[in-house]
Amino acid sequence: MSKLHNIKNWTRQKLREWMAEKSTTNFKVKEFRADQVFYWLYTQQVGSFSEMNNIGRETRKILEENFWISSLEKAEKQQSQDGSIKYRLLLDDGLSIESVFMPHTSHNTVCVSSQVGCGMGCDFCMTGTMGLVRNLNTAEIIDQVLTVLKDQPEGEKIRNIVFMGMGEPFHNYQNLMQALEILTDEHGFNFSQRRITVSTSGLLPKIRRFGEEKIKANLAISLNGVTDNVRSKLMPVNIPYNLEKLIKVCREFPLESRRRITFEYILIRDLTDSIKDAKGLISLLHGMKFKINLIPFNSVPGSKYLSPSQGQSRKFQKYLLDHGVVAPIRISKGQDIQGACGQLVIGAKA
Ligand code: SF4
Repeated sequence: MSKLHNIKNWTRQKLREWMAEKSTTNFKVKEFRADQVFYWLYTQQVGSFSEMNNIGRETRKILEENFWISSLEKAEKQQSQDGSIKYRLLLDDGLSIESVFMPHTSHNTVCVSSQVGCGMGCDFCMTGTMGLVRNLNTAEIIDQVLTVLKDQPEGEKIRNIVFMGMGEPFHNYQNLMQALEILTDEHGFNFSQRRITVSTSGLLPKIRRFGEEKIKANLAISLNGVTDNVRSKLMPVNIPYNLEKLIKVCREFPLESRRRITFEYILIRDLTDSIKDAKGLISLLHGMKFKINLIPFNSVPGSKYLSPSQGQSRKFQKYLLDHGVVAPIRISKGQDIQGACGQLVIGAKA
């Protein structure tokens, strides 16, 4: 198996080019077969080349000799009272990752991981306590969406994909971008770019680069503090890339029409949940096209921070709304199964 390529690591363009090269040998593999392969992999979600029945036997044989088709094994599945489902998925090297299916009344969302663990060390985040174990490859990112989708009752669709699971997606930039290319490919998933959100802790060089990409997924920034003092305490990334630099890059980020940057803001009791912080948020982001997702911190056993009171969260939100800021309180789904923001923490060898 090791000499074969995992076909889900390849974009359609790369597969077309490979097929064009193969065409120079004694058998002609037509480039458009790559489009058909994508259809079978991502629309029909087949697990073998033999099922791709509109592709000729010779071509299928060449594919079999060069590629294999990956899938992820579900090692564990936990259903929350709110309907969300947390999956522990097994990788080929025995490590595991988590993905979360989150049903909403009008749409479903899948939260995917981009790394095993995370090296960013955010102080409020359970995943951060693991450190970075390794990056996920493109196929491992895509297979999360496929596995979660396949596990839902027939007819259930996924409308949103959020890169808010384990890991800092911009630390795994190339695999992230390839995964986005495949997920949005018109011959495969054909997922809307507007329905994909990539959330970063604030790696500025990569935010700039992301703004220059052809694929325009949504950008979310994990903000969580309105002074360098508080933000550096919560997020070490703020030391090299402080608030002034971060906000400058966000202001310069090229936004398509009717798009805005999402800022995620964790409400932590007596640290980030005062009205003074709400005022600070407004002045920091003034003039930008943005919305704020307010995320009441989920206290977990051993956590050094506390959840805010409901009353204080509401007051904080009201202050923002009264000043014209879109600021939904994001009800963290799956809290009872540790599937909510900042609670994903696995990855040890199974
Ligand atoms: S919050 Fe995100 S970037 Fe920070 S440690 Fe957790 S997974 Fe990593």
